[in-house]
Amino acid sequence: MTQVYSKALDKTISTARIIGRLEGKTKGPSIVFFGGIHGNETAGVFALKEVFDQLSSINIQGNAIAVSGNLKALETNQRYIDSDLNRLWTHSNLEAIETSDATNCEQKEQNELFQILKDIISSNTGPFYFIDLHTTSSKTLPFITINDALINRKFSYLFPVPIVLGIEEYLNGPLLSYINELGYVSLGFESGQHNDKDAISNSISFIHLALAHSKVLKPESIAGLPIYHNQLKGQSRGLDKIYEVVYMHEIRNGDAFQMNLGFESFESINKGTFLAQNNGIKINSKYSAKLFMPLYQKKGREGFFLIREIKPFFLRLSETLRTYNVDKLLVILPGISWDNKKKHVLKVNLKVPVSFAKSFFHLLGYRNKYVNSTHIKLFNREKIAKVNMYKNEFWFKK
Ligand SMILES: [Zn+2]
Repeated sequence: MTQVYSKALDKTISTARIIGRLEGKTKGPSIVFFGGIHGNETAGVFALKEVFDQLSSINIQGNAIAVSGNLKALETNQRYIDSDLNRLWTHSNLEAIETSDATNCEQKEQNELFQILKDIISSNTGPFYFIDLHTTSSKTLPFITINDALINRKFSYLFPVPIVLGIEEYLNGPLLSYINELGYVSLGFESGQHNDKDAISNSISFIHLALAHSKVLKPESIAGLPIYHNQLKGQSRGLDKIYEVVYMHEIRNGDAFQMNLGFESFESINKGTFLAQNNGIKINSKYSAKLFMPLYQKKGREGFFLIREIKPFFLRLSETLRTYNVDKLLVILPGISWDNKKKHVLKVNLKVPVSFAKSFFHLLGYRNKYVNSTHIKLFNREKIAKVNMYKNEFWFKK
């Protein structure tokens, strides 16, 4: 068992890899919660323990499982020991951990999580829902992050919190991107600042709502469901809209990065605002935007992000364009060709004006990832989504 301490509650609990498991008598959806993939983010573990203990004797449909992430790091309240467990989920890493035994702390954790994940997927029929609970080093409203596929968007719309799209373009190897590439609904929920009590209560609310919306639990069997909804709605302070990441400040190996004190996630800033210093050089904001996840801890490679609201018109437009597969026409344009037509990977010559291309491709569900000196490779989030698994769900038809 692992001892996990919460500063917010000044309380220690002990947990195994599986925090809790609920099994229904009838087949149905499977929902999987992860807490503490980062070891200094204990709110999710505390929330999962509380909810799963509380619901242990309730009748459900399908099954629900709560999994703790980085046990070694949770024990010592650190983000990670050797490497960030939420940046390891690439195909090459997964192959390596299954074949080699010279693994570091996080690779061992990852291997155990990987086996659990494979077991859940192979022994159930779905629909599958994956929820990863995190907290941030800065003060923040609770929010959802998703890879931008329509199945993720539509399920996320059920929760009255801000939704941030497109962070996957800036991160390598987060757990949810890997699960998303398997085609399943996967949401990250950031519930608040690491040591804030609200981060625990927001997670508790989110878990209840996710259990109800996935139909694992009948809404009527959750006493106080509207209270959980209103808790998150209130915490979102009217900012529960859809945003897109437009910029990230990357911290490179050996950089001395210092965020200026007092910034919060979702705070509006003007172009030119003095935000941070990197190796003693002032960093001013390149845009008027909202600041997102400013880093106030030593570990982590993302100094801060900037996000902007996506207006409802563009959300609807992108949904229509994706539904009608407009992307097939793109290869008529100069500089754009298929890298892999079957897998819906486009190759775009960097001579194409990238800033135009980027927002246009985003509308169609493409996110760029791999850049070399002449081309960007774009991957379509829609084509890999297992839409058939979700098409009869109430939230998908909305
Ligand atoms: Zn985290």
